[in-house]
Amino acid sequence: MQRKSYLVSKHTVIDKAACPVIDAHNHLWGARSVEGIVKTMNEVGIVSYCDLTANVRIEFSNGGYQIGTGSIDDFIDNCTKPYPGRFYCFTMSNFASPVNKPLFEDEKHFVDECIATLQEHARLGAKGLKILKELGLHYYDNKGELIYCDDRRLAPVWEEAALLKMPVLIHQADPAGFFEQVTPENEHYQSLKKYPAWSFADPGFPRKNELLKRRDNLVRQHPDTVFILPHFANCAEDIHYVSDLLIRNPNVFIDFSARLDELGRQPYSAREFFIKHQDRILFGTDMPANIESSQEMYKTYFRFLETFDESFYSPDYDGTFDNARWPICGIGLPKEILKKIYHENVLNIIPSLKMEIKNINL
Ligand SMILES: [Zn+2]
Repeated sequence: MQRKSYLVSKHTVIDKAACPVIDAHNHLWGARSVEGIVKTMNEVGIVSYCDLTANVRIEFSNGGYQIGTGSIDDFIDNCTKPYPGRFYCFTMSNFASPVNKPLFEDEKHFVDECIATLQEHARLGAKGLKILKELGLHYYDNKGELIYCDDRRLAPVWEEAALLKMPVLIHQADPAGFFEQVTPENEHYQSLKKYPAWSFADPGFPRKNELLKRRDNLVRQHPDTVFILPHFANCAEDIHYVSDLLIRNPNVFIDFSARLDELGRQPYSAREFFIKHQDRILFGTDMPANIESSQEMYKTYFRFLETFDESFYSPDYDGTFDNARWPICGIGLPKEILKKIYHENVLNIIPSLKMEIKNINL
């Protein structure tokens, strides 16, 4: 329950961001109509939107979801053709697979197919490879063993991504509370009640520190592959850990999608981090852009980055403002840093995008 606050504080309204914005982390999950998304983008100044999972279809049910294979052609027909320059995509290649069957029977066959699909999708315009958190939590091999992201059998896939100059955006682990018991003391209690499938409190799942350790091994083992670690490398509770990771691994970038709450409750450290690592941070939201609160969602991201406003609420993981955990403060970044975060950094990692969105003033 949120208590009433009597604080009188400043509310800076930012209708459009300080410069053009690329939302480098989002999902359409096979949605056919993107009109509502384009409308939101135009209203708040999003020049381009990345669907990370263009060859995936998802069915949502019982607070969880089921992953299925979709067609990247649908993305091309629904997004890139009608709205040139406004959408780009990543592919999951053959990782777009349901979790209720082994990821592979024969690892060599899987890896070969995965590479062939990646090459084909690159030819069709996909800009990177996306790996969902299911790798390391849910995908089993033919012997019933859990497959971790640093499994050497998968190494040729990451090497191929490097050859194709496709960044790998890999989600591993989650907020610390997702691995703790779902009790009212858990700081993510409300979200975990609403989405029970997000809880990995069951000790049958690997612990968060193991997942992070293996992910950190992975990025170290493949220095020529560019890795984007979403959600503030899923360790926003420990900014110094993420700072060290970036210092040690020049091939690593992060986005801070769905982590405004974590960052905005430690605004001094967050600001210092954003200044120090200004060339390594991408803007992304990972929240629906076609619902009633979507404009407010984007504006709150801008307010966090651009102002020193205090004690305001960030959107929850699903882009609504229903379960705000605690108030946050803005980090008031200077314009030259905002420019890097809003679009320059992602264009440096994916240079071909520059050509594609050239019609839009950057
Ligand atoms: Zn995501």
